[in-house]
Amino acid sequence: MVRAEQVHKRFGRLAVLKGVSLTVMPGEVTCVIGPSGSGKSTFLRCVNHLEKIDAGRLSVDGQLVGYRQEGDKLYELREREVARNRAEIGMVFQHFNLFGHMTALQNVCAAPVQVLGIARQEAREHGIELLRRVGLEDKRDAYPSQLSGGQQQRVAIARALAMRPKLMLFDEPTSALDPELVGDVLAVMRGLAESGMTMIVVTHEMGFAREVADTVVFMDGGVIVEAGTPSELLANPREARTRDFLGKVL
Ligand code: ATP
Ligand code: MG
Repeated sequence: MVRAEQVHKRFGRLAVLKGVSLTVMPGEVTCVIGPSGSGKSTFLRCVNHLEKIDAGRLSVDGQLVGYRQEGDKLYELREREVARNRAEIGMVFQHFNLFGHMTALQNVCAAPVQVLGIARQEAREHGIELLRRVGLEDKRDAYPSQLSGGQQQRVAIARALAMRPKLMLFDEPTSALDPELVGDVLAVMRGLAESGMTMIVVTHEMGFAREVADTVVFMDGGVIVEAGTPSELLANPREARTRDFLGKVL
């Protein structure tokens, strides 16, 4: 579903991704861990066409990100085509950014109606089903200010799912939440993983990584230092840098 080969990204003189290679198969959950500034968010933003890579190859579902290939020629996609591809990828951030003047259900239904042109009634029914899936069917008419952080984050997940994405990217979705609210959000993500969704999750939740991930990736200094199954990487890291990091967070 996602294939990155030697992806490089720099901001001015700062090289942030220095050759990241990673494959995520359909239905797999990959957790990305690593210290602050290692390039985790930047990598997700590249996958989602929010940043343009400088070198390497990056494809999602067999399509090059940001380019169309004809024969051996590459054509840069127009903004409209980029937006269409981006709409097929769900992204959930640390800060949920719900529309404050819309109810939970309106937040979930807005993009399917406006971007995909889905009929209002159909979007509404799907939205109600999604709110049920994240455990918030009784909050459909609540405004974000009337919801806890964890509830808002679950609405944000439902909103991303409303676009029927083929891939979900999570960037530290629980790190802004009070500890007692984290579990409900992780439970929703776990359910999503079990339903077969392909997911890349940047997280500091090692328990979630251990139990849900197919692959755990440790990034440091713009490269993937080590990748493996949770039991390989979390319990028996090969690299000293991975051991150091785990020693600090576990
Ligand atoms: P954290 O765990 O703190 O979220 P991260 O691993 O997600 O860290 P990134 O956000 O990818 O790290 O940032 C990697 C580096 O790139 C940092 O040094 C950051 O300052 C820099 N950076 C990120 N975005 C930009 C930008 N738009 N312009 C300039 N520098 C940037
Ligand atoms: Mg980040």
